[in-house]
Amino acid sequence: MSLYPHRMPRWVAPFFPAYTWRLPANEKHLYLTFDDGPIPEVTPQVLDILYKTGIKATFFWVGENVARYSGVAKDVLSSGHFIGNHSHTHLKGWEVSTKRYLEDVNKAQSTIQDVTGQSPKWFRPPYGRLTKAQGLRLRKDFQIAMWSVLSWDFESRLSPKTILRGTSKATDSGSIVVFHDSLKAEPRMLKVLPDYLQWAIDEGYQFKTL
Ligand SMILES: [Zn+2]
Repeated sequence: MSLYPHRMPRWVAPFFPAYTWRLPANEKHLYLTFDDGPIPEVTPQVLDILYKTGIKATFFWVGENVARYSGVAKDVLSSGHFIGNHSHTHLKGWEVSTKRYLEDVNKAQSTIQDVTGQSPKWFRPPYGRLTKAQGLRLRKDFQIAMWSVLSWDFESRLSPKTILRGTSKATDSGSIVVFHDSLKAEPRMLKVLPDYLQWAIDEGYQFKTL
């Protein structure tokens, strides 16, 4: 097995049936998502790429970034994209109490509401890590968005070519695909994204949003 599996192993999702790992596969639909923004160094470039293709995506925001870069956040929404909550400080659920975790998620939610007037319905846990108690509590307020295809754009040991090949190979109908509008991912993500989108369009996929 690859050290960097682009496709979420099939045995994982059945353990967490209440979370959304992918959408129905009866049509050639893909769900493009970006985690960890918004930031001024990267997010506007992603918006440009998406604008050129007419594709809409869902951005899972870190509340701290929304507070710091409210103008970038507003640009994402005025470009017609959708948003989700990705916690305020990018916490690892397994490492903190449920109380602390919920406070952090709620802080992100109120920050997003203050800046945009919108209340995200989706939450994606940073690192995909969430305790059972945290998940149960959050499901009262959110749908939990996981993913089925991880681009590994943040992994500096992978080349853009490897990322493009792995991500496109792992993609099938109904996939939820994750990229990152982060400084860490930027050197690879901005190279891969236009080619990946073109590949998907050529393959006949249509992009939908969560
Ligand atoms: Zn993240």
